[in-house]
Amino acid sequence: MIIQRVVLNSRPGKNGVPVAENFRLEQSTISDMIQVGQVRVRTMYLSVDPYMRCRMNEDTGSDYLLPWQLSEVADGGGIGVVEESKHDNLAKGDFVTSFNWPWQTVAILDGSLLQKLVPQLVNGRLSYFLGAAGITGLTALLGIKEKGHVTVGANQTMVVSGAAGACGSLAGQIGRLEGCSRVVGIAGTDEKCSILVQEMGFDAAINYKKGDVAEQLRELCPGGVDVYFDNVGGDISDTVISQMNQNSHIILCGQISQYNKDVPYPPPLPPDIEKIQKERNITRERFLVLNYMDKQEASVLQLCQWIQEGKLKVRETVVEGLANIGAAFQSMMNGGNIGKQIVSVSK
Ligand code: NAP
Repeated sequence: MIIQRVVLNSRPGKNGVPVAENFRLEQSTISDMIQVGQVRVRTMYLSVDPYMRCRMNEDTGSDYLLPWQLSEVADGGGIGVVEESKHDNLAKGDFVTSFNWPWQTVAILDGSLLQKLVPQLVNGRLSYFLGAAGITGLTALLGIKEKGHVTVGANQTMVVSGAAGACGSLAGQIGRLEGCSRVVGIAGTDEKCSILVQEMGFDAAINYKKGDVAEQLRELCPGGVDVYFDNVGGDISDTVISQMNQNSHIILCGQISQYNKDVPYPPPLPPDIEKIQKERNITRERFLVLNYMDKQEASVLQLCQWIQEGKLKVRETVVEGLANIGAAFQSMMNGGNIGKQIVSVSK
């Protein structure tokens, strides 16, 4: 059977900026026959995420992420529909997902590595299982629960960087649902800031590309910052940390501003900021959602319930066509997305 697939065409280099041309669409073939235990799936949605930047390097710098190989098919979170099954628990028409879905139109996969999806849980919006009801939602929810020390009635102020992105937009809303009394976002455009406040219930948002972030933060968080959901690192985080309170908490989710640099993870803080962090006893522990997968099932149900109740507003930026997945990745890394960046491969 003839299929289309996307392979890694070239590496951007550890200090380079990734571009769409780092990926290549090509035609390939898969067997017409499937073996016992296998399923043939048609790909519907693929996820592009910042962590993939590490997979473009020869050495990802982490033991849980394998590098993509040149001229080999890339992979990541994906959703598809079963077209033929020789696996006992899967049938034609089932919707399934995997963290290691190959970037190709049709694939033969081991049925035991797939999770079956229930579309009703997300009001039929299947792609949500890659975002708000998937690893992104889990990251926001478990990051807050495990590292945020959010307490109902404690009158805490939360700041979220990368706030209009997939994790950030959920983290601000979940921070509020979990008990924060004030939530302020930091994002890269006025449109994003307005969506955060008008749609997602943030109290305020700062466009970090305009004006003085420190000054705006002081005005918007007069009692200081108690919880910081950090998606970006770098200058923005240094500014936020400078305004954090004694015994406050950083949720070290990601450091996207450093991903095109050859630095260790998590990148060390500059000495003056580290001094503040230590003197004020601010926690900054590494958080990796994959370490909490025992909480996946219950947490996904919680996220789905919030989505159904309209308590969690979800935004997606959907790009059509497998051929455009490299462009979608490049755009997301440059702030082109609002909410979760999804590639729709077939409906
Ligand atoms: P995302 O935020 O939807 O997309 C990336 C966004 O980052 C862009 O839209 C852009 O928005 C912002 N950005 C890019 N370069 C920036 C820079 N130099 N400074 C400030 N902002 C910049 O992606 P996501 O999937 O939600 O991931 C967010 C973070 O969470 C990433 O750091 C990711 O690695 C991390 N993550 C961690 C875990 C975990 O287990 N710890 C799991 C999933 C994701 P602007 O327009 O605002 O610049």
